[in-house]
Amino acid sequence: MTKVWNYFAGPCMLPVEVMKQAQEEFRDYNGTGIGIVEMSHRSAEFDAIAKESEALLRELLDIPSNYKVIFEQGGGRGQFAAIPLNLLPEDGHADYFVTGHWSRCAYKECNEHFGKAILHECTDLDANGQFTVDYSKMKVTPGASYAYMCLNETVNGIESFTLPDTGDVPLIVDMSSDIMTRPIDVSKFGAIIFGLQKNVGPAGMTITIVREDLLGKARKYTPSIMNWDNLAKFDSMFNTPCTFSWYMAYLNFKWIKSLGGVAELEKRNIAKSKMLYDYIDNSDFYISKISPKDRSRVNCVFTLKDESLNDEFIKTAKAQGLIGLKGHKVLGGMRASIYNAMPIEGVEVLVKYMQEFAAKHS
Ligand SMILES: *Cc1c(COP(=O)(O)O)cnc(C)c1O
Repeated sequence: MTKVWNYFAGPCMLPVEVMKQAQEEFRDYNGTGIGIVEMSHRSAEFDAIAKESEALLRELLDIPSNYKVIFEQGGGRGQFAAIPLNLLPEDGHADYFVTGHWSRCAYKECNEHFGKAILHECTDLDANGQFTVDYSKMKVTPGASYAYMCLNETVNGIESFTLPDTGDVPLIVDMSSDIMTRPIDVSKFGAIIFGLQKNVGPAGMTITIVREDLLGKARKYTPSIMNWDNLAKFDSMFNTPCTFSWYMAYLNFKWIKSLGGVAELEKRNIAKSKMLYDYIDNSDFYISKISPKDRSRVNCVFTLKDESLNDEFIKTAKAQGLIGLKGHKVLGGMRASIYNAMPIEGVEVLVKYMQEFAAKHS
């Protein structure tokens, strides 16, 4: 196999060790003679995976006991609908703090289908003309059922490291792309949702961590498969779960624990992103349009000063085994996703490539 450096935003690179173990166990899990994809979700073997993965997730994120963990389907988009169905009464309203593409999608889903969503535009330009998160705009309105935000905007490369004070109004967050990249205080949130495919495993599964007192408020017509209370009661086995994705998440959680947990990963992610942004800031060939304090540690979005070189940049990179650098279709430019699984060598290789490309075209 030729060496490839994978900077796709999701599905994305998984740890080499995790991929190897999954490969080894694919046709014979733990001496059962069958693979995970061939095994009942009600088997003792799968039950152990389900229980241990929840225990590991609770340990890694230090999840308080009054929070439920639900393994479900439908992706981030499914949760954009599940959130209002579970938390917003028909005559209620919710505050959406929009900082980029995904929080805007969540706002639209709620507002167009489920009821009153109040849009708060929470980005601005700083004194240098770079995008910045304006936390002063994150104010809840009286009577709101919840406030919503996305902590890492995967498309825009904007990460919110500060939380707004929402008082008694539960704060619901999408952490699809930054979950387990840094420690968080779960008790600050009403619910956290994340799809596996941005950092934790293959696509197919979404995890919801929700405070118990927020369960049981779903609208009467909420489909059972989206009703958090129902899914929690069935221990995420109301229907057949995505067993393979769940198992891969389990391997990933074990890998994170073996490295020293989320705090260790945060250190690595700070070092990796600093290397990349420092290079960009010091070059006169590449630009970051995000204010330094709000730059994502895992989705580094940048542009070439001369955008006519975009195709050439991508093509030459691919020829050298650097793939997935093209920015999201709504934004253009470039994006290097450097999640937990990406070792620092992957960033060194990228910076070296960027230097060589700049030297050749300056
Ligand atoms: C990718 C992504 C989504 C959408 O996830 P799907 O599983 O494709 O629905 C939502 N939010 C964030 C932050 C994402 O990165």
